[in-house]
Amino acid sequence: MWLTLPAVTPQGPLTTRFAPSPTGRLHLGHAYAALMAWNAARQTPGGRFLVRIEDIDSTRCRHEFEAGIFEDLQWLGLSWEEPVRRQSEHLGEYTGVVDSLTRQGFLYPCFCTRKDIQREIEAAGGAPQGPEGPLYPGTCRHLAPEERQRRIDSGKSHALRLDLALALNQLCDQPSLAWQDEWKGPQTAQPGQLGDVVLVRKDIGTSYHLAVVWDDAFQGVNLVTRGEDLFAATHLHRLLQALLGLPCPHYAHHRLIRDGDGLRLAKRDGARSLAELRSQGWSPDQVREAVGLVEPG
Ligand code: GLU
Repeated sequence: MWLTLPAVTPQGPLTTRFAPSPTGRLHLGHAYAALMAWNAARQTPGGRFLVRIEDIDSTRCRHEFEAGIFEDLQWLGLSWEEPVRRQSEHLGEYTGVVDSLTRQGFLYPCFCTRKDIQREIEAAGGAPQGPEGPLYPGTCRHLAPEERQRRIDSGKSHALRLDLALALNQLCDQPSLAWQDEWKGPQTAQPGQLGDVVLVRKDIGTSYHLAVVWDDAFQGVNLVTRGEDLFAATHLHRLLQALLGLPCPHYAHHRLIRDGDGLRLAKRDGARSLAELRSQGWSPDQVREAVGLVEPG
């Protein structure tokens, strides 16, 4: 299946990106995502294809995996603009984004551990379910300012969470936040799905959500192609774009590549890597065929 975009696409040339995290070798699912972005960029004259290395989590990312990403993409026949953006080299920009949200009062410190959250949910007899599990019960949202300060001063580590109710309230005089999915059609953002999500992790000072929203805008990406597992995240990203005054790209959430048992391929489950397939004699065309992408003749 070739990515055929319907009539409603961003004006002018498309800029797309493939944004892997170097936490393991790429597998067929990554090949599919990269090819989707590459194919989409090539549908408009002057289209741009970017590769972005999402390596904010220094505990999981490794240089040799980054080298492997470039090797695999080259082998697939893709080329991309240099220099490649590495998120780890732009942490100061994400801090600026955090400062902007903090100044506007949209973030609050959360001192809870996973265990605290679990206990709180059990005590309350459950919590609303989000797409990624139970929603945060809001424990630290209710802390008095003095208590927050006392805990910070005592050196207690904390994340920063989005105060969703406050953010939605701020935007209530705006028409509903819309975004366009190239396959599913026009969408109205439902940013509440993930609740008071962590936007600044305790350990890395930023988060996937925050960095990806900033980078896509900063790099002029106007079509985000990515897996449908991130569909709910896009609703949150639309809200963040509104809070930060950033443009909203178009999106194309694609299906996920699954193994013979219907399970989504994952690095941690030892999905066969492209490097392994290559060493077994696979060709790039066989990869394209395996993921259902065959270039029109
Ligand atoms: N770094 C993310 C991943 O590897 C990509 C997410 C995105 O495309 O927005 O899953």
